[in-house]
This record gives sequence, C-alpha cells and structure tokens, in this order.
Amino acid sequence: MKLTARTMAKGGFATVAALVLLLGSEYPGRTGPVVTREPKAEPVAKVDLLKQVREQYAAFKGGRKIWGHGIGRKIAFTFDDGPHYQTTPRLLDHLDAYGLKATFFINSRRANRFGLASAKSYATLVETHRRGHLLANHTHAHPNLRTIPPLKQKLQIELTDRLIQRITGVPSYLFRPPYGAMAPYAKRLLRQRGSTVVMWNLGSEDDKYFSVSKVLNAVMSKLERHGGGIILMHDTHYWTIEAVPPVVQAVRVESCVNLARGEEPYEMVGLEYFWRSRVGKTPPRSRARHRQWLARRAALVKLCNSQPRAPLPAFIGGESS
Ligand SMILES: [Zn+2]
Repeated sequence: MKLTARTMAKGGFATVAALVLLLGSEYPGRTGPVVTREPKAEPVAKVDLLKQVREQYAAFKGGRKIWGHGIGRKIAFTFDDGPHYQTTPRLLDHLDAYGLKATFFINSRRANRFGLASAKSYATLVETHRRGHLLANHTHAHPNLRTIPPLKQKLQIELTDRLIQRITGVPSYLFRPPYGAMAPYAKRLLRQRGSTVVMWNLGSEDDKYFSVSKVLNAVMSKLERHGGGIILMHDTHYWTIEAVPPVVQAVRVESCVNLARGEEPYEMVGLEYFWRSRVGKTPPRSRARHRQWLARRAALVKLCNSQPRAPLPAFIGGESS
C-alpha cells in the first residue's frame, strides 16, 4: 500500500476516532452526541410579579384608617424609616427566605440621590419593589406633621408620593404618619387623595431596645395579647433585621401548636387583608384570595408535620420501679 498524504490523513482520522471511543468507554456516563452548542433553556411559565404588585396598589384606594385589630390571627409586617442601603438588602433576603411580602413605609429624603449613600439607598428601594414588596408613604423627612404648617405637610406627602410613583409607575395609597401623629390638614389632604392611613398594634419597640431578643420578646408578647395585627419595625436598625427570622420562626411554632389544638393558626399576610372601605360595604373576599388561603394552609400543615419531634421524656410514661 502506497503511503500517500491522503491515506495518512485517513489513518490519522481513524486513530482519533479509536481514541475517542476508547476514552468514551472509560466514562460510561458520557453517551450520546457531543454537545456543541448551548442547551436551550426549558420554557418557564412567566408570572409577571411586578404587574401583580402594581395592581395591588390600586386595591388600597379609599380605605379606612387601619389599626390591625379585629381580623383574627393574621399578621402583616411593616417596616418604617428606610430605605437604608446597609440594612434593608439583608432584610429583603430574610423575607425571600421565608417567602414573605412586607410593606415599606419610606422617607423619600433617604433616597433623593444627593450623594453616594442616598444613591445606594435609591437602588435598594428599586430592589425592594422588584422583589414584590409594597412601597408606602412615611413623608419626605419624617417630621411631626402637627408641628409644621399645611403647605409643608403637603410637600412632605407629595415628595414621597412622587418618588414611589417614579419607581413603581403607579400611585401608592398607603400612608403612615411619623410618630403616629396626624394633623387636621394632612388628614383632609390624604382623604382627598384616597389614601389609606395605616397605624399598628404590634410595636416591636426596636427604637427603645437595641437587641434581637428584646425585639423578639416585645413582638411575641404583644401578639399574645392582641391575637394578630400589624407589626411595626424599622429596617434602619441591624438588630431589627436580625430579629425578623426568630420572629417568623416563633410565629410558626405558635401556629403549629394552634393547629395541633384544632385552633386557627397565625397567618403572615399582606396589608390587603386589613383593608376596609371608607364608604359603604367592603366587597367580599375574592376566589383568588380563597385559593391563596388554601395554599398557605396546606404549606403550613406540611411544615408542621415535617418538624422533627424529640422523643417524649421517659417519666411521662409513668414512674419506673
Ligand atoms: Zn417613622
């Protein structure tokens, strides 16, 4: 056989093919064709979270003042005085870890983008919206509305409204007065704008106590007294942020105990459950909300059943001789 360049090339290809087969046999997992281009991602059902959130804002128009009482064992998380680029992002991660949505009553002065810290806080605010939480008005610079003239009250409310609308694209109808102090002019103005004033009944005392355990105790003892409601926390304190996971876990433990007793468990929900119309009757619950309730209940039952239980102590079975 004549060795030409062509036959050598052919022989070369054969050798390479044999080598590939040989190597391939060493890796039995690697069967099938060699992937030469990026695999196509599986089509994922698109849920437009931001569209849903934008629709949620409209549902708060024209509500009565909310305190958090009287709707049973429902709990809503609200965070005031942010955004703060050093503390809020960690809170967002905690909330995501537990699949919770909260409402953030913001001071727009913190995110007016004058300076680096403020620009970072603005970015934090955008991220808060992107993760599906609600942004709400807590005035521009946190003044006591009773101590400033009407024009300034108007400006304080409008500046924050504008910032929220710039980020979300829709108006927010949720307002909380700083220090819970409302002035007659601001009250009239908010009423005209269709705002719902949100107060609280479960204060975490996180501006009085600077420790995780004290914040946890304050929330849980108030929860026991009131049986549910609106938790007030500040996402500007690091001890508050770290108190959120223990609060959620403690509420879950209580809920499992309630379920075991055949009682209604606590449910962590959004502020929409507390909304009541200012005029006339509040429309009945939608079917979608009932489906959400079923899903939450099923998830809780599954969670409670999956909790590892320690064996009962021996003396419970009776004294041994
Ligand atoms: Zn405040």
